[in-house]
Parts: sequence; structure tokens; C-alpha cells
Amino acid sequence: MNQFREKFQTEEDCLKYLIEIKWGSGYKCHRCACTEYVKGRKWFYRRCKSCKYDESVTANTMFHKLKLNLLTAFEIGFRISVKKKGMSSCELAKEFGCQQKSAWLLKGKFQNAMKSSDKYKLKNEIEVDEFLIGGFDPHKPGRSHGAKQLVVLAVEKVINKKGEVAIGRAYAKVIDNASSKELKPFFEEKIDEHGKITTDGWKGYLPLKKDWSLKQIPSEKGKGFPELHVHIMNIKGWLRGIHHKCENHRLQNYLDEFHFRFNRRNFLGTVLDKLIEKAMCLKPIPYNLLRNAN
Ligand SMILES: [Zn+2]
Repeated sequence: MNQFREKFQTEEDCLKYLIEIKWGSGYKCHRCACTEYVKGRKWFYRRCKSCKYDESVTANTMFHKLKLNLLTAFEIGFRISVKKKGMSSCELAKEFGCQQKSAWLLKGKFQNAMKSSDKYKLKNEIEVDEFLIGGFDPHKPGRSHGAKQLVVLAVEKVINKKGEVAIGRAYAKVIDNASSKELKPFFEEKIDEHGKITTDGWKGYLPLKKDWSLKQIPSEKGKGFPELHVHIMNIKGWLRGIHHKCENHRLQNYLDEFHFRFNRRNFLGTVLDKLIEKAMCLKPIPYNLLRNAN
């Protein structure tokens, strides 16, 4: 928090920071791609020399027409990124003295920015399993899951500083069913082609052996994958704890938020930079669309 306050004290600090991200490595007009500009109507605007488009630093980014000031938005982004369990929109509204709707909207936008870019795939020893949010339905045996949602999870196994087996990074995705057709795109998006994968004996993984180094071992109700199952418990506990009811169509956003934080837990000094950088690349999302998508 001290580090944050040192860096961002005023609205101007935030705008300067955004200018550096947006135009630091060169200006390019959003409309005509011209690379020359003159001063715009305010100090944080740039006007295209060719088409005269006068662009604010926040235009065409997630920060366009925010209901909250930038300093508050940055602090909310910071808090949800570094606080171990994140913060619900109710908590944010209370703490920042804003309307819950404004906090909820901003959080939804940040969740979009927290989506993985799929640039940093999991490497070396990887375990993959699926789980249901809400637990197995006793009336629906096997992997069919009724109204509950199925999630596939991949974790990278590492040796931590204490010399113990632990989880490095992880990714999770909501899938329709556990067929190889659904599992394959997840493997392609999240796992390095040279990764050594271990799964349980589920037949949906079998066809993937063609393209991946994949070993299947008995799950023994999770005992075969102890670290992975602790991770699943953590996701479920978090969803239960601060989001009493996570609507089905929003689950992926919550999984993205959880893993954005989890995968950067050892880099808290730069987590806000990463989030803002990603937010600057996000197109502004109209309220109605965000409501539907979230
Ligand atoms: Zn232009």
C-alpha cells in the first residue's frame, strides 16, 4: 500500500502513468495510424496531425468514461490484485464510499483485464483434472453433471524454497463436458507443447496422447493428485466465501480473477502495472454488454 501511495497520489499521477503506457514507445493515431501529433485540447490529449482526431489518453481503453476517478480505480485494481482473497463489490463500495453498482462495474472490467493472454504456457511437470462447482450430483453418476458447471484445471508442479512439491502457476476453464474435443483447446491454450502431463484414467484424455506427452494414473479420489486437489479446494472455498452465489455465466470471470492473483502472488510489486497495462489494451465495454457478459 505504501508503494502504491508513493507512486499514485493524484489524478495527474495516474494520467501520466497511462500516457507512458499508451504513447511511451511512440504515438499512433487510433483512427488513421498517423504517427505525428500536436497538442490536444488538454494536456493528456494528443491531436493527430493528419486527421485531427483529438484523443484522450483514456479513450479506446478500459478507463474510458469511468464513473469513478482514476485514482480510486487504480486503488481498487491494486486492492483486488494483491489482497489474498480479492474483494467483493460490496466490500469495495463500503471501503471506497462509492455505489455498489459502480464498484461492481469496475470490478467486472478488471476481471476482463485479468483474463490470461495465453502467452505464458505451463511448463515441465503438469497435472490436469476436472471438477464440478457445487460438487457431484449423487443422482447423476460419472462425469455427467446436470446444472452444475464443469471446470478443467491445469497446474504446474514445482519445488518450492523449502524443497517441497508445490504448485507454480495454474489455469482453469469452464467446459461443456469432459470429452477430448473440449479438453484439447484447453491443452493448446494453456500447456507448453513439451510439457509432461499427468491425468487420471478418464478416457477423454486418451486421444490427446497423440500430440502430448501424457501419462494416466489412478486418481484414487484425489489422493493421486494431492497438491492439485488442495488447489481445487481453495478455488471452491474462495467462491463460497466472498461470492455467496456465483452466477453460472460469470464463473469463468471469477476463475480468471482467482488465477490472475494466484499466478502473480510472488510478484506483488508489479501486479498493478500488469493489470493496468492489460486494461489499456481492452476496448471500452458498454454497460449492457458487460452486464450480459458478466
Ligand atoms: Zn489520425
